Amino acid sequence: MNASYPKVLVADDDRIVRRIVVAKLSGLGYEMTEAQDGREALDLLEGGHVPDLVITDSLMPRVNGLQLVRALRESADPALSELPVIMLTSRRGERDVIEGLKTGLDDYVTKPFSPDELAARVHTALWRAGKRRPT
Ligand SMILES: [Mg+2]
Repeated sequence: MNASYPKVLVADDDRIVRRIVVAKLSGLGYEMTEAQDGREALDLLEGGHVPDLVITDSLMPRVNGLQLVRALRESADPALSELPVIMLTSRRGERDVIEGLKTGLDDYVTKPFSPDELAARVHTALWRAGKRRPT
């Protein structure tokens, strides 16, 4: 991988959650972009703003996390269809997780989540995708 840090897009309609994720990952050097929901995330992604990994909430207005994963996996652009995605879900989000995993979701973290655990899962997903070496 090149010298620059990986880029991560976080989509969540909860500003506090976005702030926690951005604080943790930018503190580790990741370049962060935020989206307020899946629609905004898709607009960024389809507009050519393609990060190395996406973290998405499951429950969001307009386009939810599962719909976002589906849209990416169905994309004709390999940069989007192969983009690693980690979903943030509630305890009751088992259905979304199962559907997401069937659709090509890479990993998930249940809210309330540990920022350290999320960072570790981001790191591993990037490593698996060949975008970062293990440390
Ligand atoms: Mg939400």
